[in-house]
Amino acid sequence: LVVLEKVNKHFGDLHVLRDIDLRVDRGEVIVVIGPSGSGKSTLCRAINRLETIDSGTITVDGRPLPQEGKALAHLRADVGMVFQAFNLFAHKTILDNVTLGPIKVKGTPKAQARAEAMALLERVGVANQADKFPAQLSGGQQQRVAIARSLAMSPKVMLFDEPTSALDPEMINEVLDVMTDLAHEGMTMIVVTHEMGFARRAANRVVFMADGEIQEEADPETFFTAPTSARAKDFLSKIL
Ligand code: ATP
Ligand code: MG
Repeated sequence: LVVLEKVNKHFGDLHVLRDIDLRVDRGEVIVVIGPSGSGKSTLCRAINRLETIDSGTITVDGRPLPQEGKALAHLRADVGMVFQAFNLFAHKTILDNVTLGPIKVKGTPKAQARAEAMALLERVGVANQADKFPAQLSGGQQQRVAIARSLAMSPKVMLFDEPTSALDPEMINEVLDVMTDLAHEGMTMIVVTHEMGFARRAANRVVFMADGEIQEEADPETFFTAPTSARAKDFLSKIL
């Protein structure tokens, strides 16, 4: 569903993505981990075309990433993204946050968009907050709204970039639970996270990045118990 081939990206002299080859099949859940600065966010942003790449190809559902305009808006609908910071529209209600994309980008009729949004808010457990504004919600609730907002666009794949790292500990699990359900329902997901419990429960594959390269890929059990590269061993010894 998502295929990266020989993808390279520089920021000035810094070579942040080096010959990245990655293939994510439909229904697969990939957890990306690695040290700070290894290129994980850049990788996610490139797949959503929030960053351009210098060379190589990225295709989503067999199509190369569009450059701009309507096609790009549709790509962003196909590729949902949830960031570390909640990024909700502060001056819009929770319900409006979720209905805006479907109405504006997909042309969904208002009443239908609202009904679908309420069902999604129900699913992530915040339907009772629909008429509030983001600042009135906890971080965990806001992040669940952000997930509902992405899902409202019926994405083919969801990208998560450290979705729980800005949350207080007691809110982390409520977000991970929603993500785990999504994974078990068959959503294709690329998740940057250091939450090993989530990786073990939900991931088909762990991708370990360091210095802009994929150093190692394995199923979670193998990766966490028997990493092969020196970089991965070193990294795991620091976080486990
Ligand atoms: P973290 O775990 O800290 O989130 P990361 O693996 O997500 O790290 P990236 O954010 O992808 O890493 O950054 C990779 C490298 O690219 C870092 O050295 C970073 O400083 C650099 N970088 C990222 N974005 C830019 C930018 N817009 N301009 C210049 N350099 C950037
Ligand atoms: Mg990052």
